[in-house]
Amino acid sequence: MVWEPHYECMSREDMQAIQLDRLQTVVHNVYEKVPFYRKLFVEQGVKPQDIKRLEDVQKLPFSGKEAITENYPFGLFAMPMKQIVRVHASSGTTGRQKVVGYSKRDIRTWSNLVARVVTMAGVTDEDIAQICFGYGLFTGGFGLHYGLEKVGATIIPASTGNTERQITMMQDFGTTVLVATPSYALYMVEAAEDMGVDTSKLNLRVGLFGAEPCTENMKKEIERRWYMRATDNYGLTEIGGPGVAGECECADGLHINEDHFYPEVINPDTGEVLGYGEQGELVFTSLTREAFPIVRYRTRDISMLINEPCACGRTTVRMKKITGRADDMLIIRGVNVYPSQIESVIMETEGVAPHYQLIVTSKGYLDDLEVQVELSGDHFTGKFKELEELEKTLKQKLQRVLSISAKVKLLEPRSIERTMGKAKRVIDLRNK
Ligand code: ADP
Ligand code: ZN
Repeated sequence: MVWEPHYECMSREDMQAIQLDRLQTVVHNVYEKVPFYRKLFVEQGVKPQDIKRLEDVQKLPFSGKEAITENYPFGLFAMPMKQIVRVHASSGTTGRQKVVGYSKRDIRTWSNLVARVVTMAGVTDEDIAQICFGYGLFTGGFGLHYGLEKVGATIIPASTGNTERQITMMQDFGTTVLVATPSYALYMVEAAEDMGVDTSKLNLRVGLFGAEPCTENMKKEIERRWYMRATDNYGLTEIGGPGVAGECECADGLHINEDHFYPEVINPDTGEVLGYGEQGELVFTSLTREAFPIVRYRTRDISMLINEPCACGRTTVRMKKITGRADDMLIIRGVNVYPSQIESVIMETEGVAPHYQLIVTSKGYLDDLEVQVELSGDHFTGKFKELEELEKTLKQKLQRVLSISAKVKLLEPRSIERTMGKAKRVIDLRNK
């Protein structure tokens, strides 16, 4: 099923007409109402009237994280506080809190867009959805809640915490849909196995995962252990939270709600706009947000856009699964390394568990990368020879994938701290 076929399956010409119309409105709006943008536009020598075609978006200046933190807390709001009915803030994975606001209409739009995304994933009003995202300033809990409610699913607003009770609810209430970060989904399945729960007997059928990167292999692991289909959805606080993009049943990239968020991919070093199929940094312009419009926001997330038709019938442009955050990219001895590359290696190596951390240190000018990974419980025999072999295999595979050598440290099962939110993979101890 498609939630809003009129928009999601629209012809390219119609989509572009809507995008242009909305872009012009947004640009006028921020120019009139947000001093920060007016100043930025003046510096760039661009006026709202200059936006005549969709490509003219490229005349507009970029905005970034700093724009939000420097205007903390409400400086970028385009409406008086009387009309702001909600604030949210980023979970603060990196840097200072970014505060955003919503009008009543923004909340309605948000619900609708998340409804699209959960419908894409195959969720209907027959489902019982357990939301294990935090409810609070983080947009994940409320966002998924609104969308699922709109679709008519039965919601269990479980939030995070008390993992054993979560599993019991899942059994007793017959949960069919799990909303969580991939990390928490893994943590939960471990807890379920510890409790002696046969996960194949649960009613779970779909996972709605997001908020952090998850490699294809990690996704498979989650699907295997939970006996469900895992889907990915993407969003970020700065442009409204979840509901930006989601995976349909074809699972070949995430459909972007591009009638509400105009996507671009740029070369992060030069700002040059890249074409379909080229990897770079995602940039979004919000097209309908009233309270907190945002122009050409640099997300620091690495992906690419795909415009080939999708078998599901939706015509919206898709984005590839996020490879990682530019912030998490490590430069080790001059080579770019993404945690996701290391995750892929770990996930396809037998004997280690999907729990890992990357420790970066430096001695003089030389950087050192140590991959700490847990042994998997079922393979752990404690035989020295086996461990040595495993370490060697991992080292070789990492060297092949990363083109640099990394140290490997095998840890006892369960020694890396589990998270109920986003996993912290990188510990960078270099003095910057
Ligand atoms: P924070 O930057 O503090 O984590 P948010 O909670 O707003 O703030 O999280 C948004 C970020 O989370 C995105 O910019 C992206 O890096 C990451 N993210 C969200 N959804 C996904 C996803 N499906 N895949 C990969 N990364 C994601
Ligand atoms: Zn599709």
